[in-house]
Amino acid sequence: INRQRLLVVANRLPVSATRKGDASWQLEMSVGGLVSALLGITEFETRWIGWAGVNVTDEIGKKSLTEALADKRCIPVFLDEDLVNLYYNGYCNNILWPLFHYLGLPQEDRLATTRSFQAQFDGYKKANQLFADVVSEHYIEGDVIWCHDYHLMFLPKCLKERNNKMKVGWFLHTPFPSSEIHRTLPSRSELLRAVLVADLVGFHTYDYARHFVSACTRILGLEGTPDGVEDQGKLTRVAAFPIGIDPGRFIRAIQLPQIKDHIKELEERFAGRKVMLGVDRLDMIKGIPQKILAFEKFLEENPDWHDKVVLLQIAVPTRTDVPEYQKLTCQVHEIVGRINGRFGSLTTVPIHHLDRSLDFHGLCALYAITDVALITSLRDGMNLVSYEFVACQASKKGVLILSEFAGAAQSLGAGAILVNPWNITEVASSIAYALNMPADEREKRHHHNFVHVTTHTSQEWAETFVSELNDTIVEAQLRI
Ligand code: UDP
Repeated sequence: INRQRLLVVANRLPVSATRKGDASWQLEMSVGGLVSALLGITEFETRWIGWAGVNVTDEIGKKSLTEALADKRCIPVFLDEDLVNLYYNGYCNNILWPLFHYLGLPQEDRLATTRSFQAQFDGYKKANQLFADVVSEHYIEGDVIWCHDYHLMFLPKCLKERNNKMKVGWFLHTPFPSSEIHRTLPSRSELLRAVLVADLVGFHTYDYARHFVSACTRILGLEGTPDGVEDQGKLTRVAAFPIGIDPGRFIRAIQLPQIKDHIKELEERFAGRKVMLGVDRLDMIKGIPQKILAFEKFLEENPDWHDKVVLLQIAVPTRTDVPEYQKLTCQVHEIVGRINGRFGSLTTVPIHHLDRSLDFHGLCALYAITDVALITSLRDGMNLVSYEFVACQASKKGVLILSEFAGAAQSLGAGAILVNPWNITEVASSIAYALNMPADEREKRHHHNFVHVTTHTSQEWAETFVSELNDTIVEAQLRI
């Protein structure tokens, strides 16, 4: 049978490439959420299109990398260094990322930012055109094109300008902010119009979808309907598609003998203490300082717990060349140092803070031994760590404390303790409540979450989005 082809376009390909010689490359597949979602789908023939994350300037390099990637069903988009600076470091990470997470437009050096804004936006559009070039080159009639994330908001427009017959969907992995926030963006209208060219626009939560529709009605003056946004008879479908994880991958991992051994080791190391866990990239949106301050307040108010609890915070370094991120690292180190100095003893400290990432198995073992997971994102598109924790807790049935500003709060709200991460007092008392929670309540809460995580998988998410996209196009043809 002929399967429908699915072209998945995202900023980064799911491989990292290292050059080993003139024409030789070492490739490593990275298993992020998107990859595991699409690996399980056999109904489509999937190709990946994206940037390989390396700067390749010579033709031999480009040709050999393209050939090497073809084996992995990946097609590279080549971006030169200046463009990466304007498009990726500039417009994507310095403008859109903070804005979509309610951190506003850059404040410091405002003049410089304002002056370079247009150049960054032009670079963004140019990069999106380069993605569209590669897509068009590989497009065959009938293909479904699925564009991902805030990096590629211009892509739907670039694609349909080339070929109006393309079936184009766009999905945002971050929050979409209130229209009052989006309004502040100098390129607010152009960006919205470019997205609206897609046939289907998807978000993690109903709130993000609603924010997007109201941005289109208030800023563009278009009509919002329950199904989406209408512009002169043309409907763009807008809907919520909450992503999930591949729960089986985690459930299988913690059954492996070597992980069971590792779990036992960790349990012995922390015997007599309850383990609290945080796993975040070290990003402002994750609310790490707020979390640690809340833990300090909990220790202050509960001296009985001092030698009976430990907080393990895995803070994965990210964008380490950016001054704001360096400042955040220093700030967190200072708070952790103060608290460990204040509440530690000769043999133990209350916080183990690690500036590093863990491999998949190490992470699974930590999830499995945790009594209370503490996720305090100030804003977070979904937050998959909360799902992964739940998947690894079948025997322990630990408690999840979750920020109400993470997309996951919409789906795990019934089982988690939801908190406002800005309210240190509330988070501190939630920690106490979680640590003292009786087993029957823990089991009941865990059950809620476990059922959700194991039934709303990443595979189902991807299948739903693509079939909705196909349906949307059939319906649009019937309307004409
Ligand atoms: N992760 C990892 N190693 C680590 C810490 C985290 O592989 O040491 C993974 C984790 O399993 C999860 C992802 O990083 O799948 C983080 O996703 P999330 O949605 O929670 O946050 P994001 O980093 O995308 O903002």
